[in-house]
Amino acid sequence: MHRREVMGGSIWCEVPELGLVEFPPAIQRHFQHYQQTGKKDKEAGGQLFWKYADDGHILVGAITGPRPTDKRSRTGYKADHKQEQLEIDHFYGEGLYLLGDWHTHPEPVASPSSSDVAAIKEIYLSSKNPGSGLLLAIVGTRPLEEGLSLSWCNDRVVPIALAGAAGSKA
Ligand SMILES: [Zn+2]
Repeated sequence: MHRREVMGGSIWCEVPELGLVEFPPAIQRHFQHYQQTGKKDKEAGGQLFWKYADDGHILVGAITGPRPTDKRSRTGYKADHKQEQLEIDHFYGEGLYLLGDWHTHPEPVASPSSSDVAAIKEIYLSSKNPGSGLLLAIVGTRPLEEGLSLSWCNDRVVPIALAGAAGSKA
């Protein structure tokens, strides 16, 4: 079953409250750089920021992390929350808004752990301007179209499938 398609270089998903969200190649390359394909690779993570594309859809326009002050192990990742807030403030000034968080897992096809689910709910419920939700991206070791897990998180956490290829939305 192909839940995800990669064509035109971008990965797309459809978020109920946001519509189509595009992950362009530059963002995918950042994910790929930190995939835990080596036996000793530690989990990595950071934040995702969005902006409107020219045609009005939501484009992932910036990605951060991992930072030197994050806590990283083979099967654990804990972001430096101070740095996260600095990033949010910095990108806000550039017209980029927090979309959510990403981190890697040392498993072929990623899925959020129960602590991941609890953590993203806590972030959503404690944030000052939570909007309609936060995206949680988890990067497995398989190619992204197969190994990437996307969830939409507010008081609930629901998995998101890929919307299809770039060309199919015309
Ligand atoms: Zn995790």
